[in-house]
Amino acid sequence: MFASLAGRGVIVTGASKGIGRGIALRFGTAGCQVLVVSRALGEAASVAAEIVAAGGRARAFAADVTRQGDMDAMAAAALQSFGRLDVLCANAGIFPAARLGAMTEADFDAVLATNLKGNFLAVSACLAALKAQGAGRIVLTSSITGPITGYPGWSHYGASKAGQLGFMRTAAIELAPFGITVNAVLPGNIVTEGLAGMGEDYRRAMAAAVPMGRLGSVDDIAHAVLYFASDEAAYVTGQSLVVDGGQILPEALDAPGA
Ligand code: NAP
Repeated sequence: MFASLAGRGVIVTGASKGIGRGIALRFGTAGCQVLVVSRALGEAASVAAEIVAAGGRARAFAADVTRQGDMDAMAAAALQSFGRLDVLCANAGIFPAARLGAMTEADFDAVLATNLKGNFLAVSACLAALKAQGAGRIVLTSSITGPITGYPGWSHYGASKAGQLGFMRTAAIELAPFGITVNAVLPGNIVTEGLAGMGEDYRRAMAAAVPMGRLGSVDDIAHAVLYFASDEAAYVTGQSLVVDGGQILPEALDAPGA
């Protein structure tokens, strides 16, 4: 599966842990050359080392998605390291909780800057290289929270995640003439280091709300991302794929166990 990806040059932002790390490792397994990006170089370097230890090719790069200069340097590093850039996974995101009334303007701006403006800056920086490839792929990590559901404490986060889909649809139209597709994966509740910190009770309650009876794995998300990046998805653009074990489907809270 995903044999068409071998040799491709791939950037994954927010790849030092969680979902991004899972995506980067899977691209490595698929024979891609992976630029592992996060603000902390040390953690990104550990993930790049994991890919190399598994027989893949990878380099770590420190960059902040809220800074255009960092994004330009990131694209240049991929080209310099791999000689090509085929796939941009705009995955970096933050999710600090704050309810309305307590949420500050700075809270709101920080979430939008990373989760939404960060997509625009990364895409802008990578555009020339993706156009040169003639078959570029952009895959955004959105969420079910915002585009489909709401969650107390995350109004700014939900706005940013829904905003990503609005950005995606127009970007998909504008970039189609260049052979570049733009798609989004919408994860449900995925087991990451961050979720582990929210406690066993939270994890159990979330799993109980999922018809599949379990939380998602980072591989569940990575496989969807690799599909969008593959040659087999060449005619799919402007689409969002929910990967949530059926979490958004029930009409009633007790439906999963009914
Ligand atoms: P995570 O474990 O907290 O990892 C976030 C990653 O993004 C880290 O590598 C972090 O590294 C990086 N990052 C944060 N701010 C950055 C910035 N300004 N510039 C560059 N890198 C930055 O998060 P996650 O749970 O894997 O989430 C990843 C994506 O999936 C996010 O877009 C999130 O909204 C989405 N998502 C997650 C879930 C879930 O259940 N986990 C569900 C739905 C959607 P540094 O701090 O070193 O920069």
